Amino acid sequence: MKAISVLFLLVTLPGCGVLRTGAASLKSTADFMPMEADRRVFAEAGGEDVAAVAAQLLPEAVATVEKQQGRPFPKPVEVYVTRDEESFAAFTGVAKQVRGAVILKLFLSGGLRKEPERIRRILVHELSHMHLWQYVGLYPYNANLPSWFQEGLAVLVSGGGGAERVSEDAAAAAIAAGKAVTPESTGSFFFKKSGASYGLEPHMFYRQSGMFVSYLKSLDEERFAAFMSDLEGGRTFEDAFNDAFRGSVGELWQVFAARCKTAADLRHRIFRRTQSPQKASSPETPVRVTSAAFKWERYVTAK
Ligand SMILES: [Zn+2]
Repeated sequence: MKAISVLFLLVTLPGCGVLRTGAASLKSTADFMPMEADRRVFAEAGGEDVAAVAAQLLPEAVATVEKQQGRPFPKPVEVYVTRDEESFAAFTGVAKQVRGAVILKLFLSGGLRKEPERIRRILVHELSHMHLWQYVGLYPYNANLPSWFQEGLAVLVSGGGGAERVSEDAAAAAIAAGKAVTPESTGSFFFKKSGASYGLEPHMFYRQSGMFVSYLKSLDEERFAAFMSDLEGGRTFEDAFNDAFRGSVGELWQVFAARCKTAADLRHRIFRRTQSPQKASSPETPVRVTSAAFKWERYVTAK
């Protein structure tokens, strides 16, 4: 009994993710009702408005995750939408400001009615977690896969879900300044890392993680797909990573961080030039520095 209590305490952490709290996961969702548009989406009374949007979005969201992560969901998908953010916190055990979580079931917060533009991104983000978790199992998902990879993949697949408040430029500048994730090569079931582990706000942690995973994918998409397949097959993260990227997590991060610094320096120089009246109209002034997408090769070759 004592061991169970300790487990419940240790897995209670801030942010989104899998099994943040054991106690909340025991709360029944029997009163949630399926939505007409997609009966895989269930609404708590009072959460039907957000659930209706999620139900419209779910088929495309599922297809996006299956395409990006390379395989169909191995088990049925269900989405539970709570009445409001207080109810979300009660069902998940995470802070009421969080908008989505996978706590054995996938929950979306009724608080998303304040931020309807985020519903699709948060839905896809959580589906990314659920997809990989369904393949590898709950314990290995957390014990084997480092938090930065779980979140970075979810941010990448969802087009920025969970990282909306920090731009890629701001994240690159922070990395260049040493305010960054220190990525591990393994996960932890009991001591899961979050942004706070590195002194970072959640959206900064998610953005940096997403950029790093995006960078890894950009190196070789086929190798990245093989890496994902290895993980889904139960291989250790460290072995699969070293084979796929021909280096350790720390080594690849150093290369990535150096590119962030190059880009941040270049952006800083161009900003200074464009602020100077006599330089402002110079035909030599590059203009494609702000990144809509994370294309580091373009930065470097343009330089
Ligand atoms: Zn997440």
